[in-house]
Amino acid sequence: MDFDYDLFVIGGGSGGVRAARVAAGETGAKVGLAEESRMGGTCVIRGCVPKKLMVFASEYAEGMHEAVDYGWNVQIGGFDWPKFRKRLEGELDRLEGVYNRLLDGSGVEVFAQRATLADAHTVRLADGTTKTAKHILIATGGWPAVPDIENGELAITSNDVFHLPEMPKRLLVIGGGYIACEMACIFNGLGTKVTQFYRGAQILRGFDGEARGHISEHMQRHGIEIHCGTNILSMEKVDDGIRVRSTTGDSFTFDEVLFATGRTPNTKGLGLEEFGVEIGRRGEVVVDEYSQTAVPSVYAIGDVTNRVQLTPVAIREGMAFVETVFKGNPTPVDHALIPSAVFTQPEYGTVGLSEEDAREQEPIEVYSTSFRPMHKSFIERDDRVLMKLIVSQKTRKVLGVHIVADHAGEMIQLAGVAVKMGATKEDFDRTVAVHPTMSEELVTLKTPVRTA
Ligand code: NDP
Repeated sequence: MDFDYDLFVIGGGSGGVRAARVAAGETGAKVGLAEESRMGGTCVIRGCVPKKLMVFASEYAEGMHEAVDYGWNVQIGGFDWPKFRKRLEGELDRLEGVYNRLLDGSGVEVFAQRATLADAHTVRLADGTTKTAKHILIATGGWPAVPDIENGELAITSNDVFHLPEMPKRLLVIGGGYIACEMACIFNGLGTKVTQFYRGAQILRGFDGEARGHISEHMQRHGIEIHCGTNILSMEKVDDGIRVRSTTGDSFTFDEVLFATGRTPNTKGLGLEEFGVEIGRRGEVVVDEYSQTAVPSVYAIGDVTNRVQLTPVAIREGMAFVETVFKGNPTPVDHALIPSAVFTQPEYGTVGLSEEDAREQEPIEVYSTSFRPMHKSFIERDDRVLMKLIVSQKTRKVLGVHIVADHAGEMIQLAGVAVKMGATKEDFDRTVAVHPTMSEELVTLKTPVRTA
């Protein structure tokens, strides 16, 4: 049977664009791609990239105060949000252009409109036309999930943060995950009074307990008011902002309320279930290790599959899909030992198991140190760094590395190589320290602080 395309990709985010580009550019496949919003998807347009640029902007506040104590004569003024936002918008336009040119250069035909599944080999575009394809790749990503509460529409999500007309003076962040903690730190750095409600006992559920405590303590010391065991009940518009009632019976007024309460896979209205694609409990496309759905011609990658919601993982999944389907080399996606960073202030870099999860798995040794880094102790700041290794008693392998420190994201990338290679504690020990650095502590940890 003749198809219009060898591959049709729905969704122009990091995963979809990479798969389309590599299939077309490296295998000569005829590829179409539909994107209903801006090219680049969550990461480039409303996630990682603008977020990281806001992290940079927000870190200058502390940096300038530190500079003063280091002897610089600095006049600290306020943050000019419209000026920053204009530059940010320009940068996002530039990156979107890069993505479009990359697709164009690889020969991918782009449709700037929504596409849905019309059958196992056909997509229907918003303009009513249909396109047939031998393979269809669903790469539609995710969307902020918001709790169903009274006047919930008064709140914003991470999608809206980058378009705010002005900086809020008082912000309430709901949630305790990646986005909530990162946004709380960003706005705090930019001069907003930040309050954070988290329904559980400690922020950053699922991460290492000691690291979570360390970050929470640091965030609070730097002015963020964290209320654990607290959720939002209702909101109402009042003269001077948004009045919020909490589950603890208190009332507060804020200029903005940000829901950072998780993300839902974008599968609604795509017509997937009608044609036999299995959808899971959280709305995700269910796939096998080759990213294939229950319909053999339909594959899915990235956040829409709700496996690991990280850009580099979506890209890996896209590459593995092309390898499997277009290069005749079946390649399962390796989701083991993925390093990641939470861009709180200070950052948290992590790879492998938390102490709590490792303890469940096997007998372990825990090496951990918390200290004031040279950069901070010189100017008498109390900020401490945490360096932690979880080691298997039996194999001596390092099962987890946890770093809470400035630039921990940069450090964990390299520690991730060692852990992925199966490095043992003794491999770390025989590596010479780089002095004077913070990360040298990782290779000089002598005695376990506890075994479990
Ligand atoms: P997360 O799943 O990390 O966190 C969601 C938070 O919202 C949790 O604290 C959760 O509480 C809370 N929550 C969920 N539902 C409700 C509710 N109804 N009322 C109150 N609180 C609620 O999601 P995020 O939105 O922060 O991020 C989504 C994903 O994006 C992350 O999992 C991550 O993979 C990715 N991401 C990665 C980043 C990075 O690499 N630096 C940065 C940003 C996002 P509870 O813990 O009790 O479930």
